[in-house]
Amino acid sequence: MTSAADQEPETRAITAGRDESGSLAPALWASSAWDVHDLDGAHAGATAVHTVGNYSRYANPTVQSFEHAIAELEGTESALAFASGMGAIASTVFALCSRGDHIVAQRAMYAGTLSFLNGPCQRMGIDVTYVDGCNANEFAAAVQPGKTTLILAETPSNPQFELIDLAALGAIKGPFTMVDSTLATPLGQQPCKYGVSITMHSATKGIAGHNDATLGVIAGEKELIDGIWSYSVLHGATASPFDALNGLRGLRSLGVRLRHQSETALRLAEWLSAHPAVNKVNYPGLPSHPQHDLAKRQMQQFGSLFSVDIKGGVQAARRLTQQLKLIRNAPTFGGPDTLITHSATSTHLSVDPAVKTATGITDSLLRVTVGLEAFEDLRSDFAAALA
Ligand SMILES: *Cc1c(COP(=O)(O)O)cnc(C)c1O
Repeated sequence: MTSAADQEPETRAITAGRDESGSLAPALWASSAWDVHDLDGAHAGATAVHTVGNYSRYANPTVQSFEHAIAELEGTESALAFASGMGAIASTVFALCSRGDHIVAQRAMYAGTLSFLNGPCQRMGIDVTYVDGCNANEFAAAVQPGKTTLILAETPSNPQFELIDLAALGAIKGPFTMVDSTLATPLGQQPCKYGVSITMHSATKGIAGHNDATLGVIAGEKELIDGIWSYSVLHGATASPFDALNGLRGLRSLGVRLRHQSETALRLAEWLSAHPAVNKVNYPGLPSHPQHDLAKRQMQQFGSLFSVDIKGGVQAARRLTQQLKLIRNAPTFGGPDTLITHSATSTHLSVDPAVKTATGITDSLLRVTVGLEAFEDLRSDFAAALA
C-alpha cells in the first residue's frame, strides 16, 4: 500500500484530519468547556497553546480535526480555523501588524479585504501600499525594510482572475507573505509549498462546498500559527464546531466536485468565448488568458469560476441575469448551484470607482460560479438568455 504522503491529494482528502476512534465521520463536539479536574489541570489548560481539553475558544476537537485536514492538504505543520474568511484575515493582520507598520497588498482583491485594509487598518495606523500583483517585481519593490511586516495577495483574484506568481512571492524575504487561495481550494494549489508564509481560505466557499457553513482557515509553520493563535483567542472570531464539521465533510468530496466544476467551467468558458454577444471571458484555464502558462505551472485545477464581459454594457448584463432560468443570482461560490453575480453593483460596490476601472471591474462584467449541474443544461440556459 502506498503511504499517505505518496497518495494523490484527492485520495488524502478522504481521510485527512480523521482521528484514531475509527469513526468515518468526525464527532461533533458542541462542548464549550472541559472538566480540568483540579488547580494543576486548570493551570495547564490556561497555559497550553492551541490544545484541546480546556475551553472551546482556545481549541475544540471537531475544529481541530478540520485544521489537521487543511494542514495535511496544504503541506504545512499547522492550521487555524476561524468563524469566517474575514475572521481569518482580520485576526491574522492584527496579530502580525501594529501601529506604524506597513502592508503591501495586491490592488485586485476581495472587496471585504480591501474595506478592512482601507478602514480599520488605516484607523489603527497601519499603512497600506497597493501594487499590480500580475507583475511579480512590484511586491518586492514596495517593501519598506524594517517597516513592512506583511504582503497580502490573492490568486486567482476575483472577478478578474489575475494570477500571482507564487514562486516569486514566496522568494521575498523579510515580511510575512499571505495568499488568499479561496478560489483555488487546497486541491487546486498549495502556496506554502512555494515559500509563502500563510495560506488562507474562506472555507465558506469551495471547501465546505454546500452553502451551509461560514468558516475561514489559515495554514503555515507551527511557530507562526501559534503566534497568530495567541492573538486570535482575544479577537474571538472562533470557528463553530458545526461549521468545522461541514468544512470537513466538504473536503471529503472536494476532489470530485472541483474536477467536475473545473471541466464544466472550461467548456462553458470556451463556448461563451465564441458567442457573438460576448466581448471576453476571463478564465485561467483558457489558452487566451494572459497568464495561462503560469496557471498550468502552479495550479492542478483551474477552478469553478470565470467572468464574462458581455456586449451592451450594464443594460445587457442586467437583462442576461434576468433571462437566465437555471442559473441563479447569489453572492457566493463553490457550491452545487451555478450562480451569477454583477460584481460592480454588488460584491465590489464599495470599491473606489478608479480602482474598479484600473482592475477591470466593468459594468458589463458578470462573475459565474459553476456548480454541479450537467454542462448541456447550463449551456442551453446561457444560449436562451443570450438569444
Ligand atoms: C468570501 C471570500 C472571503 C471572505 O470570506 P467569508 O467567509 O465570507 O468571511 C475572502 N476572500 C475571498 C477570495 C472570498 O471569496
